[in-house]
Amino acid sequence: MKTFAYERARSPAEAAAAAAKSPGAKFIAGGTNLLDLMKLEIETPNRLIDVNGLALDRIEPTPEGGLRIGALVRNTDLAADPRVRRDYGLLSRGLLAGASGQLRNKATTAGNLLQRTRCAYFYDTNQPCNKRQPGSGCSAIGGFSRQHAVVGASPSCIATHPSDMAVAMRALDAVVETVQPDGRTRSIPIAELHRSPGDTPQVETTLARGELITAVTLPRPLGGVHVYRKVRDRASYAFALVSVGAVVQRDGTGRVALGGVAPKPWRVEAAEAEMPRGAKAVTARLLADAKPTDENQFKLTLVERTLAGVLAQAKA
Ligand code: SF4
Repeated sequence: MKTFAYERARSPAEAAAAAAKSPGAKFIAGGTNLLDLMKLEIETPNRLIDVNGLALDRIEPTPEGGLRIGALVRNTDLAADPRVRRDYGLLSRGLLAGASGQLRNKATTAGNLLQRTRCAYFYDTNQPCNKRQPGSGCSAIGGFSRQHAVVGASPSCIATHPSDMAVAMRALDAVVETVQPDGRTRSIPIAELHRSPGDTPQVETTLARGELITAVTLPRPLGGVHVYRKVRDRASYAFALVSVGAVVQRDGTGRVALGGVAPKPWRVEAAEAEMPRGAKAVTARLLADAKPTDENQFKLTLVERTLAGVLAQAKA
């Protein structure tokens, strides 16, 4: 591991300003992804700004009837919060489908959103990877791509976003709150947080340098039945081949978002108009622009079958 400077921030604005001043700086909170990447020298920050002391670990009601989740709320605490379990079951179930109990005890809300892909070539520093080393090529294209994206990718990168929590938040229309290095705050709809890879897969979000996530806000509860179903190679501690998060109302309308199929949580609002017609019609719209590889073509069928199971479960 490379050496680095370490400092504890005293306020969100101070943390953002310090990170903007030092181009190689990274924020650290739970560190469940960052420390692994540092040990492999895939991430080589020259400065770690520890944000754990910033009182961003509360879950509070908003005046609009929603919930404001502090950036440092641990995944375990968020999944177990009685208000989340009662009104945002999709989020609680998505969180519990992710990682392991030990990791969820450490991982934070903001860190979960910003975790990096688990593409095996990204972690193998002997292999070309445009995300790790821009311009070096993509080993997954023409390589082992069973886990990779079938939609929303680019000729530069076909990696998926690994978060389950983000899939639930995308379906719930969460809004990400940040503080910028000049102290101003802004709100980013979660649909606009993660970028498509295009020619620059190393740039994964729309956050500016130094911009710090301080909270995630959920709108008023949607009601309905909340289901999160994750299909993976083993029952625990594995990333999704396909996941489906859905909120289904009594009349069959609702919302649906997918994980494991795209470089970001995948939702196509226009597809939701098809929900009363069933999984086949919704999947056709959700994956209309799919470009699977020979190795992951099965995901198209898997999405449809998983969604059919989710809709049947909701109806029951
Ligand atoms: Fe790298 Fe993306 Fe290709 Fe994986 S899919 S090897 S992360 S460029």
